[in-house]
Order: sequence, then C-alpha cells, then structure tokens
Amino acid sequence: MAYAVTLPPIVTVPVEGTIDLFPVRRVYCVGRNYAAHAREMGFDDRDPPFFFCKPADSIRPVGKGETLEFLYPPKTSNLHYEIELVAAIGMSGSDIPLEKALTHVYGYGVGLDMTRRDLQMKMREMGRPWELGKAFDYSAPIGTLHKAEQVIDIAEASIWLKVNGEDKQRSSIPYLIWSVAETISYLSRYFKLEAGDLVYTGTPEGVGPVVKGDVMEGGIDGLGTITVKVV
Ligand code: MN
Repeated sequence: MAYAVTLPPIVTVPVEGTIDLFPVRRVYCVGRNYAAHAREMGFDDRDPPFFFCKPADSIRPVGKGETLEFLYPPKTSNLHYEIELVAAIGMSGSDIPLEKALTHVYGYGVGLDMTRRDLQMKMREMGRPWELGKAFDYSAPIGTLHKAEQVIDIAEASIWLKVNGEDKQRSSIPYLIWSVAETISYLSRYFKLEAGDLVYTGTPEGVGPVVKGDVMEGGIDGLGTITVKVV
C-alpha cells in the first residue's frame, strides 16, 4: 500500500517548557462570545454563541520570542485581527457534563482568529457559510501551549492585543459570555471532541483592520504573548 499522493504534514503546536508537540486534529471557533464584541458587530449580546471551523492546516504556530510573518491574504481589503483564548483538548468525549469539562483540557494558548471581514460580512448578508471570510490558509496563528495544570487562574486572566504598540483590544476572560467549560460542554453535544482539537473561544471588543507592515502583539496572563507581522 502506498499513499496515492504525498501525505499532508501533521500540523503541530509546541508545548511550553517541553520538547512535545501538540498535534492538531480540528479547529473549532466560537462566534460572538464577549458581549461588547457582539454589540460592535451589530448583535444583541443575549444571542446564544455559535460555532464555525477552520481547517487544521490554517494553524500557524508562533514560537516564544519569534515574530511570525503573516502573508496578507488574497481577495480581501479588510483583514481583521481577533485575539482569543484557545483551549486545547487532551481527552475525547461526547456530552461532557459541565463539571467535567475542564478535565478534557490539555492546555491553553494565545490565538489569533484572522478574518477577511469584507468577505465574512458579504457571506453573512447573503446567509451563506463563512469559510471564505474565516477559514482561509494560515488564518490561525497560535502561541505555544501551556499545560492546564501549570496555568494559574486562567478564568481571571486579562487578554489584550496591540497593533504597532497601540492598545486595540483589552478585556478579561471573566467577560466570556460562555466560559471555557460551558463552551466545551455545549460543543461536545454536537461533535465528539478528540485529543488534538483546538477551541478558539471568541474575541473581545476592539477588532479592526491591519495592513502590510503592521505588527500585532497579543497576550493573555499566564500564557505569554505572540507577535505577528503582516507582510
Ligand atoms: Mn473569532
């Protein structure tokens, strides 16, 4: 037996303080999970959150102290940043009860859900799927993962993003409409979660455009920072 075409590489994210690599299976993303961001996007903050997916190979790991060069994607003139807390699933499960949800988390990281906002809005208006706006190549930079047992009090952490040194997004994890545990429990009723899945938990308010030459630096307390330059 041979593969009919070249076997695609397994996408991995380095684990902080180890030589281990976390293999990525699926990437789930929560939409509108901070009230102030839901409002800035023109929605009521009581709307329930919802999910979309990005391909596993949209993930771009960004090493500690490294600046990722992010190619400005085609077919857009309104590329937006969205800084997000990412939960990495370490144990499979369906219908995970809320009180068990965090036991399925292997670790956490700082992610960017890069978005072709013009295409997303157009698809939204037409009632069509969001893939063109959200699931494009290399659209999901992520920093090293930090093992859950080594992360102190992620539920209280602050989350922020600067562009060229200027504050653009600043909030904190308690402002998630659906907590990490609630998100995992809910999602696991619709999909069997597996080790290797990443869950982007949504972005706070302050999203906006970047252009070639801009440098984004984002962070979450306890998880370090990531730096991404648009080229
Ligand atoms: Mn997002």
